[in-house]
Amino acid sequence: MIIDLRSDTLTKPTAGMREAMFSAPIGDDVFGEDPTVNALEEKIANFFGMEAAVFCPSGTMTNQIAIRLHTRIQTEVICHKYSHIYLYEGGGIMSNSLASVKLLDGNLGKITAAQISASINPDDVHAPETTLVSLENTMNKGGGSIYTLDEVRPIRELCQEKGLKLHLDGARLFNALVESGESPADWGAQFDTISVCLSKGLGCPIGSVLLGTKADIKRARKVRKSFGGGMRQAGFLAAAGIYALDYQVDRLKEDHARARKLGEMLLELSVVSEVLPVATNIVIARLDGVFPEEFMGKLAQKDIKSVKFGPDLVRFVTHHDFDDDQLEEFGARVREL
Ligand SMILES: *Cc1c(COP(=O)(O)O)cnc(C)c1O
Repeated sequence: MIIDLRSDTLTKPTAGMREAMFSAPIGDDVFGEDPTVNALEEKIANFFGMEAAVFCPSGTMTNQIAIRLHTRIQTEVICHKYSHIYLYEGGGIMSNSLASVKLLDGNLGKITAAQISASINPDDVHAPETTLVSLENTMNKGGGSIYTLDEVRPIRELCQEKGLKLHLDGARLFNALVESGESPADWGAQFDTISVCLSKGLGCPIGSVLLGTKADIKRARKVRKSFGGGMRQAGFLAAAGIYALDYQVDRLKEDHARARKLGEMLLELSVVSEVLPVATNIVIARLDGVFPEEFMGKLAQKDIKSVKFGPDLVRFVTHHDFDDDQLEEFGARVREL
């Protein structure tokens, strides 16, 4: 049995999800005529209490569309230095939006209103104009850490006071919400745009959604078209999203419980010096006296897959296709290392 903990994107649709996809009513979504895409967009917008939503092929696309909406040439985005939008989107802030980026430090991948306030560029001929702040929740490189509403509210107030837009890369926002119990509508109220992924822990094969005002989402549809993301009978994919929202959100708690146990198992190993606090489904272990490649090689010999996450870091992600039996088996195998 291979235990694959590289990512929660590895999940495959369940029988129920496949059934929902096969039987979905469809149409041409570029004409706005796919009933299932329209239903998904409406459902998810209602869930977060936001005006409108647009379905896209990937979270990179939803984030990049949001950045395009909230910047112009020669403006600047503020985000944490470990943000997905900066590290893992192919330099899209630059190539898609011709914008600059200011990278902040922060504990477990999170930034504060005070830090942001000190990083807003002055109105000066030398500096790119700051127009956008982007947060990530959960924070992938922060070990799946969670922002609370109390941490976000002062950031929102600052942005409103300074006339900045606030975007949330909520690829794993559902993980954060099931863990914190905070209300989706309270989250929706804090941001100009939110991007959520359906293809991570929720188990869909493809799909992300960008949420925002009616006016912003109207513009987003045009940007999506220019990025090549206008899809035709996308209802087959949207049906998976609707199914996931109905049946696979609460289940994320199981992934979190397994991740906590997995973290404890790793901490028992002599070569693991630290495990970042496990808040959701991501476990990041710091190694001592062994390089990630060597440690991961040993794991691979035992059919355990993980990813390198820094010079001394290895990441494990729990997901829908990783169950209690595999967790127990993981424990048995790592004890033999
Ligand atoms: C996965 C992910 C995305 C989007 O990735 P895609 O593979 O393009 O869907 C965005 N932000 C974070 C934090 C992610 O983990």
